Amino acid sequence: MDGGSVAVVGAGVFGAATARELSRRGYDVTLVEQYSPGNIRSGSGGDTRLLRFSHGEDEWYTRSARRSLGAWRELEAETGERLFEPVGVAWFDDGDSAFVAESERTLSRLGIPAERVDGRTLFPSVEVASVLFEPEAGVLRARRATQALARGLRLETRRASPDDPPRADVVVWACGSWLAALFPALVQQKVTRRDVFFFGGDGDWTGCPGWCDYDGAFYGTGDLGGLGVKVAPDTAGDEVEPDTLERMPQQETARLAREYAARRFPSLADAPIVAARVCQYDLTPDAHFLVAPHPEHANWWLVGGGSGHGFKHGPALGEYVADCVEGKRRPEPFHALGPRKAGAGLRTATVEI
Ligand SMILES: Cc1cc2nc3c(=O)[nH]c(=O)nc-3n(C[C@H](O)[C@H](O)[C@H](O)COP(=O)(O)OP(=O)(O)OC[C@H]3O[C@@H](n4cnc5c(N)ncnc54)[C@H](O)[C@@H]3O)c2cc1C
Repeated sequence: MDGGSVAVVGAGVFGAATARELSRRGYDVTLVEQYSPGNIRSGSGGDTRLLRFSHGEDEWYTRSARRSLGAWRELEAETGERLFEPVGVAWFDDGDSAFVAESERTLSRLGIPAERVDGRTLFPSVEVASVLFEPEAGVLRARRATQALARGLRLETRRASPDDPPRADVVVWACGSWLAALFPALVQQKVTRRDVFFFGGDGDWTGCPGWCDYDGAFYGTGDLGGLGVKVAPDTAGDEVEPDTLERMPQQETARLAREYAARRFPSLADAPIVAARVCQYDLTPDAHFLVAPHPEHANWWLVGGGSGHGFKHGPALGEYVADCVEGKRRPEPFHALGPRKAGAGLRTATVEI
């Protein structure tokens, strides 16, 4: 494809980054969005998202995260907005985390800095045997970054569907948690709730690193921008419907977050929960993304399956999808439609779906 019109349906991070990249390459691009870019119902509408390079032994996603950091920095320079907090990410290893060990080897092979450090140098209070620290990782201001990607693009506010598609030479359907409902015969995806809690720690939690406990199935951040210390369980919750979900946190999940915070970070044992968010994951069976042409409409592309770890990859994914649309690159077989083997090794934690 050379020149022409493109409609990208969905102004989450995947759609906005794809639209921005295709517009940069000279296409006449329209971003079609039912609510607004980075809206609170979307996966990209959260306050913060971790940017980590570690993906176990997987080099594709490790390189993609690395490439994306450079692109996020370029977007910061273009927009003059602060989108990335370079606080690093700490991986908790209570003794035998295979994921942390594999990540350490992969990062070393690819020349990405990571070091074993004493966790007490990173957090005001922490109980952990060993920490693998990625000093160049950090935390993205997700909603703000999504809106920055979409800024300046032509936006059409409406709900598109396969029966009422946008008119364009190419249509990219980047519809996050809505993708499977639009293409039920093609997309294997489960949409599950995720409650996130912010604890009111003392001032010494300001600017602490992001952190992941792969095996314990929790992740979070220090206090960034006064939001509080983020503590989020990372297992799959109940299946939900993203338009109608009432976004009130569940008491049982709050109890689990409190228990974890008290155990892992003793100084937070009596800290109050000062805020909470309810979002949803769009999980594929194997946590790999989805980037594939529609089998019946040669000029349609389906893009999604962020699976709870997609945000950081936005800009690199936008370049990859733009290359596929232009025929410069073939989509990876592990991003194809069709049945997949269960496994969630790319995410912070394993889940049953
Ligand atoms: C609680 C939580 C924590 C997370 N933590 C991290 C993290 O730390 N690091 C990380 O990298 N990732 C993380 N993720 C995952 C990441 O946020 C998502 O993978 C990513 O934001 C998904 O982006 P998307 O563009 O595919 O989908 P979305 O952001 O959901 O965007 C889809 C957009 O399409 C629009 N849309 C849908 N259907 C239509 C239609 N028919 N017509 C018009 N518009 C439509 C929607 O309104 C929406 O705006 C997390 C996700 C959640 C929920």
